Amino acid sequence: MQVYADNAATTKMSSHAINAMLPYFDKVYGNPSSLHSIGQEAKEVLDAAREKVAACLGCEPREIYFTSGGSEADNQAIRSAAINGARKGKKHIISTAFEHHAVLHTLQKLEKEGFEVTLLDVREGHNVTAQQVKDAIREDTCLVTTMYANNEIGSVLPIAEIGAICKEAGVVFHTDAVQAAGHIAIDVKEQNIDMLSLSGHKFHGPKGVGALYVRKGLMVHNLIEGGAQERGKRAGTENIAGIVGLAAALEDACANLEANTAKVVAMRDKLIAGLSQIPHSALNGDPVNRLPGNVSFCFEGIEGESLLLLLDAKGVCASSGSACTSGSLDPSHVLLAIGRVHDVAHGSLRLSLCHYNTEEEVDHILKVVPEVVTLLRNMSPVWRDLQTGKREYIL
Ligand SMILES: *Cc1c(COP(=O)(O)O)cnc(C)c1O
Repeated sequence: MQVYADNAATTKMSSHAINAMLPYFDKVYGNPSSLHSIGQEAKEVLDAAREKVAACLGCEPREIYFTSGGSEADNQAIRSAAINGARKGKKHIISTAFEHHAVLHTLQKLEKEGFEVTLLDVREGHNVTAQQVKDAIREDTCLVTTMYANNEIGSVLPIAEIGAICKEAGVVFHTDAVQAAGHIAIDVKEQNIDMLSLSGHKFHGPKGVGALYVRKGLMVHNLIEGGAQERGKRAGTENIAGIVGLAAALEDACANLEANTAKVVAMRDKLIAGLSQIPHSALNGDPVNRLPGNVSFCFEGIEGESLLLLLDAKGVCASSGSACTSGSLDPSHVLLAIGRVHDVAHGSLRLSLCHYNTEEEVDHILKVVPEVVTLLRNMSPVWRDLQTGKREYIL
């Protein structure tokens, strides 16, 4: 049995999305900027995809800009708000300590360019509160950017509350909704979201295509100069097949949201209950406000890397933190941000499920994870020290 439990890193494409894309490689292959009929046919397809994405988010089609993915959308949103803020002399940005690197690294660059960044603490409840956002807003705050849901530990943030506070304070609110779109119902107007990023490959669409929603009236600045595509804000011939695939996948995900969520939540909760039985373990992330498919644990006395390799050998594809941090020896900034000490953060496991996973797969995971944890602990000098009392347990 091979179980794919790394859907927060990427998802397999749905056949619905694949089939929707196929005609746009060889049958309808025009450039939407061309004036002839073949080009105009592609333009119509692009418009239809934009309408579908807008319908899923509760906005207008002209408020959607297609990008190369979630990272580009995050960069463009944050840079745009920073430029707009600086023009008014506002150079303070609020975010959280457990954002994706697409956000954190953009903010670090802006700090070097003279912006001041406040990162909200996420130790309490492994989440932020709207009150924390409210308390951090200053006269010179030009942007609040908080993720909708965390990709490593699954915490879902109080987005509508944060949106209401930002609206009242007159501060632009961007959310990196890459983990939420297609998994949680979103309504940008109702939730007072000014800008939102999403990415096709996190909800069974293609990789390399994403979208940025920007409320009309807000100035968007382009990262890529060139042609007048995407209302002059994102140059480059549109990735028509990719955009069609993204729109089809999002439409499908939104139409089946309730049924998928019920199925995935049941599997998630079974895994959390089962893995909590492992001694000296701890669940990471908000236990209540949590992504339907996220299971994240720390196990004391083991190395996450060896855990992943042994699990892979037993047919379970999982992750320790995010795909982006693996390959480096540093523990995940997210686990450190919620207050896990280095040793504990190293023993982390993230299982991320989707509706293609099955009960049998969950049972397989519940069988092999405790086996592998025990095996690794029996080989670990740290675990021996914990057992003999030379070291004290943290979990
Ligand atoms: C995956 C992810 C991104 C990056 O999206 P890409 O399309 O891979 O660039 C950004 N933010 C979060 C929360 C993610 O999970």
